[in-house]
Amino acid sequence: MAGANSGPRHDRGEDERNASRMTVDTVNQATGPARALVCRGCGAEYPLAAQHACWQCFGPLEIAYDPVALAAVTRERIAAGPANLWRYAALLPVAADPAARVSLDPGWTPLVPAAALAAAVGLRAPLWVKDDSANPTHSFKDRVVSVALTAARALGFTRYACASTGNLANSVAAHAARAGVRSTVFIPADLEPGKVVTTAVYGGDLVAVDGSYDEVNRLCSELVETDEFADTAFVNVNVRPFYAEGSLTLGFEVAEQLGWRIPPQVVVPMASGELLTKIDKAFSALVELGLAEPPAGGWRVFGAQSAGCAPIAAALQEGTDEITPVRPTGIAKSLNIGDPAAGPYALAAVRRTGGWMAAVDDDEIRDGMRLLARTTGIFAETAGGVTVSALRQLVAGGRLDPAAETVVFNTGDGLKTLDAVAPTAVPTHVVKPSLRSVQAAGLLGEAERVIRES
Ligand SMILES: *Cc1c(COP(=O)(O)O)cnc(C)c1O
Ligand SMILES: [Zn+2]
Repeated sequence: MAGANSGPRHDRGEDERNASRMTVDTVNQATGPARALVCRGCGAEYPLAAQHACWQCFGPLEIAYDPVALAAVTRERIAAGPANLWRYAALLPVAADPAARVSLDPGWTPLVPAAALAAAVGLRAPLWVKDDSANPTHSFKDRVVSVALTAARALGFTRYACASTGNLANSVAAHAARAGVRSTVFIPADLEPGKVVTTAVYGGDLVAVDGSYDEVNRLCSELVETDEFADTAFVNVNVRPFYAEGSLTLGFEVAEQLGWRIPPQVVVPMASGELLTKIDKAFSALVELGLAEPPAGGWRVFGAQSAGCAPIAAALQEGTDEITPVRPTGIAKSLNIGDPAAGPYALAAVRRTGGWMAAVDDDEIRDGMRLLARTTGIFAETAGGVTVSALRQLVAGGRLDPAAETVVFNTGDGLKTLDAVAPTAVPTHVVKPSLRSVQAAGLLGEAERVIRES
């Protein structure tokens, strides 16, 4: 099984001797405060390596940290860092050395006050949009890819890959291009043209699979076990525990940008559900380390899904722990994971914090995109429309407290999903290049005012 050693699998002979040189100590130096992999299911521990599932219970693994190393982190040290996600390097499973990174230096994206959006959805408290479309490849995926590939390089991998619903494909291809490393990216063949172009342009292999994302993901789980892909890091498969930690930085940033306060309510889009669990985990970590203040009654985490693919929200609303996989439909393709790996943990975080989940249909998604654009000047992709529409539904349904400060996460850029709003986003007036024509179109006041022919 790949990952039995600290890095990629090696053939016998010289490679095996090289592999044995990569001791756990060497890896630890390369992985900062990370201490081990720990099973989210049964708690079993494993050395840091390219392993994502527990050998005892098949549960997903996540990173465990050295508490002494984390306790040394201060607000001042973070604030002295760069204006990107590496300001939190001492809280991530990566080396401190900038030269060791595989990165487009994403992060430190705007936290935009959104009073007009608050009024439109019926919120009386401050509302913020954390706008992660400002990242280098225009989605939050640059965060997870920078952390995954920096760890992958430390673990000895020489090729980068992923199974993607779109944004991950962009980010892996761009990171690999910057690093001068070969990439092999797998996508469902029916992805939006805007996501295909913005992946293919970086070079590398782009494999369009005639199947759903869940089928693409299963294929990658099989490929990762082959000899041909033994030296390949699939960011969301064999190095997934490292990948997932990149999402922590969204939670860290929001707290720091609010003056080291945790907001009382957050609304987060869900595909695998991982991002939601990591924002919650980031808040817990900051409070535990004494770096940020929790709100008086604790924070509440809300999840947003598209009605065409809402297995996590359905389980919450039905009051079950069992997540029934679905065959996704609908325009929010970046969120279309029918069998969400972190679903049970997203359910647990929302239940533990007293939040809720909402699912919105395609018309509501388009309305959400237009509402966000018109009230904040932010053009989000379909996933942002999901989140904004879910916010409105959660307020209207009495689930979200309209008097409590709230942060909504926009995770992607509308330029990649133009087709969603293109039919209604058209010129409001069409004129000839003359004042008379502009007046006839109603843009120059009363018709009695005589316009000279120009
Ligand atoms: C991947 C993605 C998400 C959600 O990611 P998960 O961690 O899998 O839940 C949200 N928004 C956009 C735009 C994405 O591409
Ligand atoms: Zn286990």
